[in-house]
Amino acid sequence: MRVPAGGRRGLAAGLALAGVVAACLVPSALRAQEPGAAPPPTPAEAAGWLASTPPDSAFPWLERLAAGVGARLRVDTLALIPASGAAPAAIPVAFVAPPRGGAGDARPEDEDDGRLRVLVVGGQHGDERAGYEVALRLARDLAAGPLAPLRGALDVAVVPVLNPVGMRLGTRVDGAGTDLNRDHATLSSPAVRALWELHASWRPHVVLDLHEMGPSPYAAQIGIPTHPNADPDLVELARYRVLPYVVRRLAEANVRFHEYVAVHPDPAGPPVAEADTFVSLAPIAASNARNAFTLAGSLGLLLETASGGEIDGLRERSDRLHLMATAVLEVVAGLADELRAATGRGVQDDPSPLLALRARNAEDPDRPVLLWQRWNARGVAVPDTLAPWRPRVARLAALPVPAAWAIRPEAADLAALVARHGIRVQRLSAATRLRVGVYRDPRAPDARERTLEEGTWLVPADQPGQRLAFTLIEPGSADGWFGAAGPVTGHPAGHEPPVVRIGRPFPALPVAPADPVGDARAPGPGGPLPAETP
Ligand SMILES: [Zn+2]
Repeated sequence: MRVPAGGRRGLAAGLALAGVVAACLVPSALRAQEPGAAPPPTPAEAAGWLASTPPDSAFPWLERLAAGVGARLRVDTLALIPASGAAPAAIPVAFVAPPRGGAGDARPEDEDDGRLRVLVVGGQHGDERAGYEVALRLARDLAAGPLAPLRGALDVAVVPVLNPVGMRLGTRVDGAGTDLNRDHATLSSPAVRALWELHASWRPHVVLDLHEMGPSPYAAQIGIPTHPNADPDLVELARYRVLPYVVRRLAEANVRFHEYVAVHPDPAGPPVAEADTFVSLAPIAASNARNAFTLAGSLGLLLETASGGEIDGLRERSDRLHLMATAVLEVVAGLADELRAATGRGVQDDPSPLLALRARNAEDPDRPVLLWQRWNARGVAVPDTLAPWRPRVARLAALPVPAAWAIRPEAADLAALVARHGIRVQRLSAATRLRVGVYRDPRAPDARERTLEEGTWLVPADQPGQRLAFTLIEPGSADGWFGAAGPVTGHPAGHEPPVVRIGRPFPALPVAPADPVGDARAPGPGGPLPAETP
């Protein structure tokens, strides 16, 4: 891909920083290595890549690894997923800790000590094995292998297989038929809920989501955030600082790369000729992991390796994805300060405070509409006329961000959905009359006097998950609770939805802390929500 001059300067700075970090960290990494201890092979490596790692082997293998490396690796259960006609499947999470000075210097995980936290997720799709294999390798290589120097700058949490039941069955979806990587707005699956619980408590700056993408003329593909409400500065950091370093590492290894893209990567550049198709059309919805985690304040990146068996085997797919993930870890370690500054910010720092309610890919009069190419069964790249790439994301409707949203007490499942995404929710402790924005037309709320009942849920906008809160709560949002992606409940057409906007500045209101997720678990009118998994 072409990178503008600013991007190249950014790349050079990123490379220099990564080099400095790596150089500084080598001594501590050498100290951390135990003499003579050879890191154990993964089950697939031990089988010479003639067999993949069974999904139920992740937990015992990580525990054996942890037993050999001590405090450098801690393994926990993220969730237990019920499986019909079979034992529940455990989803492990492995935390790779920073180098330790000695026994007893344990560091609380929530301490903000200037380190960059990276969450790696594999196996959302059960029929994509490479991400799972790579996640296990990354945990091992960081704890006791060649990536150990990166522990000087990074804390890494690895969830190697988010969909163990789907992997048992060999299906993309989980045992209930849910596509986990379309479930990050609705959180209908216990696995994705548990992942968001981890995200809320551990607050990673970067989330890497590992996938296979099917046969493609490109062996490697990276998706940076494409949702129109993603922080544009964060997207720019991903495209012009992170991506060029990774692309260079892939080029050195002769891996053909393209970006999974929804907008033109270089708006100031010359038009792209159709023959130069180097992008494929990425969804711009909030339902996938990279977009949802980015709206929640992290940088979400999708890393994909071409697959399909007819191209090559699991080892090659895994090696390419491992190279991509390693390159991302290297460059984000070198950009730790920039990423810490660019993540977890609200729109108050944004020069254009309007966020999109609805958007679509649109034609740009100055740019050609490209055809999405695909690789057919005879190994020929053919245009996929069903999915032309339109080079612009058009905002069909947009609104400014209010100071807060007020959700009626009976819409507890909306409040719980927001809280499950790690967004802080409060409750009004006394009825209050004030002027609010009501959504007779969800695209143009108008100001009215309303009495907010005691027990009204309040979601302050001024918090790191602000962009996600907007996208989930606004009744006009295509990606939210009321929109196409969410359950439209209790909101007959023509009636006011059970949410209003509170304008800026946020008035002083009598508030109390709230736990809508806990309230939703408790039996009450309408019955409890489905039980959480442990
Ligand atoms: Zn996938």
